[in-house]
Amino acid sequence: MSGSWGPASLICNWKMNGAIQKVQRTLHELRDQLDEKGLFSNLERDLKIIVCPPYPYLSLAKQIFIGTPLHLGAQDMDFRDSGAFTGAVSGMMLEDVGCNTVILGHSERREFFGETEEFVGRKAAKAVELGLHPIICVGESSQVNLAGETKNFVLNQILSSLQFVPSGSKLTIAYEPLWAIGSGRSAEAEDVQNLLEALAREPDLQDHILEFCYGGSVGPQNIGSFLTQPTINSVLVGGLSLKPQDLVRAIQTAVEVTQQPKNTWKVAS
Ligand code: PEP
Repeated sequence: MSGSWGPASLICNWKMNGAIQKVQRTLHELRDQLDEKGLFSNLERDLKIIVCPPYPYLSLAKQIFIGTPLHLGAQDMDFRDSGAFTGAVSGMMLEDVGCNTVILGHSERREFFGETEEFVGRKAAKAVELGLHPIICVGESSQVNLAGETKNFVLNQILSSLQFVPSGSKLTIAYEPLWAIGSGRSAEAEDVQNLLEALAREPDLQDHILEFCYGGSVGPQNIGSFLTQPTINSVLVGGLSLKPQDLVRAIQTAVEVTQQPKNTWKVAS
């Protein structure tokens, strides 16, 4: 199925970090530096920044982003709308506080919270139904990687979740190899490109409109190498989200790169 994707995205996953003052300081600094460097117009046109702080700080972040092109996202959601599900947060609640994007199935949720492919798929289906953009995270361990099984493993993860999502839905697949997350050792951009291009051509993945993202130890020094690859439309960052000066440097590079024409490979019909 053919899809047309807008500007590249940079998704900032704060994980379980922050406190009111830290959120205020970091996001004010991010906003003010982007403004001072005249980058707001680029962020409307060439690069979408989506900040995903912990739930308690979503409204605070939204306030700080008023009048800016910065977007708000969440790190997870439940697939049910409301009811007796203590501790859960629904997609409707996320929309209520101004989120337009949600990260789903992050490897840390899979490892520490027993997230299954079915849960990830049901959450993605609910997000699509509500008009929240789902980012489904997938990625292999170093053992799977060393065994040369990455493509099969990742394809299986994607298919196992997408079976719950209606055909024709638009989703982002974030490829995040577990060994690259928070390790300072990112994957090689060319290897990621080859993998994602092969996935984009997979006959079994043609029922949904997919764009691809890379995550894992991305910083100002390597963000350009990922965003110049034809099949990588966005990047997901963890550690970098908490360092506003480095984040702004990465955004500057990403803006320069995304202004260059690239022959973006779309999932073909
Ligand atoms: C992540 O947590 O999804 C991530 C990519 O983290 P980091 O950028 O710190 O590797």
